Amino acid sequence: MRKPHTRLSRLTLAMLSTSLMAVTVPSLAAKKLEPKQDFDNASVIVKFKETAKKADRKQLMAQFGASFKDKNNDGVDDRFRHIAKGRLAELTVPRGLDARAMVERLKHNPHIEYAELNHRFYPSVIPNDPSYGQLWGMPKINAEQAWEMEMGSREVVVGVIDTGFDYTHPDLRDNIWVNPNEVPNNGIDDDGNGYIDDIHGISAINDNGNPQDTHYHGTHVAGTIGATGNNGSGVVGVNWNTAMVGCSFLGSQGGTTADGIQCIDYMVDLKNRGVNIRVLNNSWGGGAFSQALEDAITAANNADILFVAAAGNDAIDNDVNDSWPANHDVPNVMAIASTTRDDEMSYFSQWGLNTVDMGAPGSDVYSTIPGNDYNTLSGTSMATPPCGWRRGLDFGRRSDSDYGRCQEYPNVFWRPHCRIGRQNRDR
Ligand code: CA
Repeated sequence: MRKPHTRLSRLTLAMLSTSLMAVTVPSLAAKKLEPKQDFDNASVIVKFKETAKKADRKQLMAQFGASFKDKNNDGVDDRFRHIAKGRLAELTVPRGLDARAMVERLKHNPHIEYAELNHRFYPSVIPNDPSYGQLWGMPKINAEQAWEMEMGSREVVVGVIDTGFDYTHPDLRDNIWVNPNEVPNNGIDDDGNGYIDDIHGISAINDNGNPQDTHYHGTHVAGTIGATGNNGSGVVGVNWNTAMVGCSFLGSQGGTTADGIQCIDYMVDLKNRGVNIRVLNNSWGGGAFSQALEDAITAANNADILFVAAAGNDAIDNDVNDSWPANHDVPNVMAIASTTRDDEMSYFSQWGLNTVDMGAPGSDVYSTIPGNDYNTLSGTSMATPPCGWRRGLDFGRRSDSDYGRCQEYPNVFWRPHCRIGRQNRDR
């Protein structure tokens, strides 16, 4: 269960009472939603007990007629080697059994610590935003907002866990991470991390080294994080210089919890191999509470990686209705609400005095999409990149107040500043 947060500052409370709360609480605070039931019926997630050795795991698979991905036959799911000491696995559900029944049966097995459904997540973007088309416009951004901050650094790597991203986009390609230990297109896993030719990241959907965008959402998010500045074209991201590594897990049917965990596993492994990943951007939501996902986020926390998550777009209070992954109670999680050009909370944005950390512009955000193109989108998806990235860069330069820290960087996109709910957790 989520523990109550108690570190709200007076500043935070004052700000919320005059802004976010005033806008939304009266009509919506009491809204309590039924948990969603949207999961993959062909797979489940388990955590083996520490005592469950390779032989026990194999026997269990035989008993259930299930399997997990284990190419090297060491009894560890290849996709989750770096989380919870390799005790997580995504099991196939055999024909004739549905996922719910399988979870119930697995729960009672002496080798299983927990078993859960493999819920789906979706991009946190507004599909039919009525304000769509009201462009803020690049001239406004460039003319009025000088880039007084530092311009970012390619030594700071940002993980974009999303639909993938278009690493060939002219406004992105210079700010895409390049794996120094992988020879492109030689068909060999040169660095031995389990992925062949993962030059810019991976696809958890296809289990390969190609994070190309299959949609447009991740490319849009990536543009907000780090479209190239001062190159005379398109848009600029919050950071003119950065290095983004991608993991595609959101597909046409959404993305499963297991694939999301695989993305985190990949990023944690890279970090432990010396790639300076500071932040994972997670502009998605849905699903349900998953202990396995929380274990993965904890692994990222232990690797000193911030996990920035969209607060969600259903205009509800996250203190009342848990929103995942934003509400996971791990110190590295930051949940981001969306604001408008007028510095108000976006009509769709979720909020939470105890569960949302800050807000950033997410209404009518103009950014990159695949095919050397651009588009305007709205959602907490769009708000998640700006503040989170700044926060990641600030690791190691802790100050007393997150708000003050955000104030240092007023150009967290256009004019608005960060606002904070869940204040200044452990870092
Ligand atoms: Ca590799």
